[in-house]
Amino acid sequence: MQKTSDIIILGAGLSGLLIAAQIREKSPEKKVLILEARPQPGGRIRTVRSGNSAPVEMGATWLNSSHTRLLALIDKLGLDLVQQFTGQKAIYEFSGHEPHQIVHLPENGGASFRVKGGSDRLIHALIKKLDGVQIRYNEPVTSIFESKENKDSKKGAAGLLSVETSGHKEAFLTGLVISTLPPRLLTATVNFTPALPDEVMNISSQTHTWMSESIKSGFTYAPDNTFWLRPDSAATFFSNAGPLTEMYDQSIDGKHALVGFMHDSFHSRSKKEREGLALEQLNRFFGKSASGFMEYHECVWSEEVYTHSPHKNFIVPHQNNGHPIFRQPLMDGRLILAGTETAATHPGYMEGAVIRAEEVVRELGLG
Ligand SMILES: Cc1cc2nc3c(=O)[nH]c(=O)nc-3n(C[C@H](O)[C@H](O)[C@H](O)COP(=O)(O)OP(=O)(O)OC[C@H]3O[C@@H](n4cnc5c(N)ncnc54)[C@H](O)[C@@H]3O)c2cc1C
Repeated sequence: MQKTSDIIILGAGLSGLLIAAQIREKSPEKKVLILEARPQPGGRIRTVRSGNSAPVEMGATWLNSSHTRLLALIDKLGLDLVQQFTGQKAIYEFSGHEPHQIVHLPENGGASFRVKGGSDRLIHALIKKLDGVQIRYNEPVTSIFESKENKDSKKGAAGLLSVETSGHKEAFLTGLVISTLPPRLLTATVNFTPALPDEVMNISSQTHTWMSESIKSGFTYAPDNTFWLRPDSAATFFSNAGPLTEMYDQSIDGKHALVGFMHDSFHSRSKKEREGLALEQLNRFFGKSASGFMEYHECVWSEEVYTHSPHKNFIVPHQNNGHPIFRQPLMDGRLILAGTETAATHPGYMEGAVIRAEEVVRELGLG
């Protein structure tokens, strides 16, 4: 039989790690276990680091001055910010039938920032705060049910919950599960006994997982080939013709990259095809210099089974994000839903992940 944890957190993304770090800080005697499906932490924060190239963000990248809880966390963790460089002009391609044009960007467009050195610095800084918290990777949770092992329950009549994963033979026991999975993914992939209320299941199934259909693409370049930073060029582009719809400079500390989004419809092409088509577009905008890249990186998030769960009907971006039903305790108070899509404000964004994590810890009487 598995040892009992006071709290089991599902997911080692920003939400799960922050909840664990705050519980650790405020109540170090609590036994906390994090079960993570992937072999690594971070979830939708994924920074690709390779050789001497610039770190390339395949997931969360930007924040702004309205993201006050995230800014406070970044400050507390001793991390720095870097302002996103956009330049004063951008390339704009209205359609595939007309030549692209240079447009001037508005002066007061509102600055956005990145975590200096890469978004994954947030993840690694939080992990450093988790001394004594066990994180088990490669443990996709498959079911949560009432346990028969209620003898040492601290929850009295409500008893313990058993959490089963496909990575481990025996179930993990706990008095409290905090899920940070996107609600749609949670209810589509985890079985609950007793079943969750119909309303929770229905709303979850119609809840958008922010950015889960997107494709991110990035090219890294050597310091002597930063063609987009030349005065006669533009460091930002927007295109209706694609395949890349928008792209930005992601240079840092003398290392250089152009990173952006590819239209979702290219998900069925091969990586080689996407790379070739993206490069054709860069050649169209910047000339042959673009072909002298160091590395190409991409992430097709709709293929990430621990983020995206396919849906037949169109779900509007942000649909049901922040729905109040997600902030009601379930399973007699033994299951709490967290994760960015459950936040009342800024749901979907890193800010929402932080807001809801802090709220959950407060509601446990620890904050
Ligand atoms: C391409 C892209 C670009 C983005 N850009 C921005 C941006 O610029 N700014 C911004 O603020 N936000 C952005 N976001 C959103 C941001 O990434 C999220 O708001 C934030 O990372 C969510 O953190 P989370 O911990 O709530 O969820 P997640 O990061 O999704 O964490 C959930 C965790 O649960 C794990 N998991 C899943 N299933 C199971 C299971 N069965 N058992 C155990 N573990 C499981 C996952 O592996 C994951 O680690 C972007 C997201 C993407 C995908």
